Amino acid sequence: MNTGSQGGPPGPFSGGSRYNAYGTYLKEKFGCRVSKVAVDAGFTCPNRDGSLGFGGCTYCNNDAFRPSTARRLDPVPLQVEAGIRYLRRRFRAEKFIVYFQPFSNTYAPLERLIPLYEAALQHPDVVGIAVGTRPDCVDEGKIAWFEALARDRFVALEYGLESIHDQTLIRIRRGHDYQSWKEAVGWTRGRGIHIGAHLILGFPWESRQEMLAMADAVSGTGLDFLKVHHLHIVRGTELARQYRDEPFPLLEYEEYLDIAVEFLERLNPEIRVERLFGLAPAELLIGPLWGRSKAEIQRDLEGRLAARRTWQGRIFIASRRGNAVP
Ligand code: SF4
Repeated sequence: MNTGSQGGPPGPFSGGSRYNAYGTYLKEKFGCRVSKVAVDAGFTCPNRDGSLGFGGCTYCNNDAFRPSTARRLDPVPLQVEAGIRYLRRRFRAEKFIVYFQPFSNTYAPLERLIPLYEAALQHPDVVGIAVGTRPDCVDEGKIAWFEALARDRFVALEYGLESIHDQTLIRIRRGHDYQSWKEAVGWTRGRGIHIGAHLILGFPWESRQEMLAMADAVSGTGLDFLKVHHLHIVRGTELARQYRDEPFPLLEYEEYLDIAVEFLERLNPEIRVERLFGLAPAELLIGPLWGRSKAEIQRDLEGRLAARRTWQGRIFIASRRGNAVP
């Protein structure tokens, strides 16, 4: 993608992009279009099965991001096949990363996990796996297995974080703190595994500075890629109940664009950005109701970066050099 035509010179990343896009990285790495195929391998999570709690994180409704091809009743190879068929048709993707997405996908003994991951890797066009999980659902044995797999295949571990602020993690009932996330990332670092994280911007009790501080904090943790999205309220969650009982402000569209741009400016330019916003299905979304499509949000974000003649890491690099930063 080249945003240079929308004002100012092009950005410093591949294709003139103003941020380090994960999709571009995968395309360059594999020499073709690569898509992620989400599968539901039937896990739960300690925040739901009673180990830590029963209600889950207050914002969590896994149906909000599960594609229709990821039906947990189907065996993993069938889900992979259905997902690949769809992604080939829709996006002309040629290679695929199987994404173990809903719930905590390392939350089982290794003997149960390995056959599921190996089943996903059987398809000839699958180049690797991405596994979404929590910092308290990994151990040395699991990481060592991923490390060995990563010698031949693409392997990504995505550790949910959502906020670096422990007060927020308590309020949203994550069941772990920032320190335990950093420890899990530390165990995983330097072992050939791509490490990812998710962050949410827009918790109503977090100030803008607290949101932007997350970019500063994760920039130094050795992350390879990051997903960021705005707080949205979806049906069937504790947050939806709280919002109904006592409505609180959600980020307006223009406000989010500004925050996302400022977040990117502070983010280490080596961290690849997989997502900058989230879209829940219309039937589940309570708010914010921006009325924009994915393409429109993407276009507006890129337009805002270009209009400000800025890019991912601009402030991060300036601060490293000891220059004054805004
Ligand atoms: S967000 Fe993840 S950790 Fe939290 S309840 Fe949902 S599946 Fe569990």
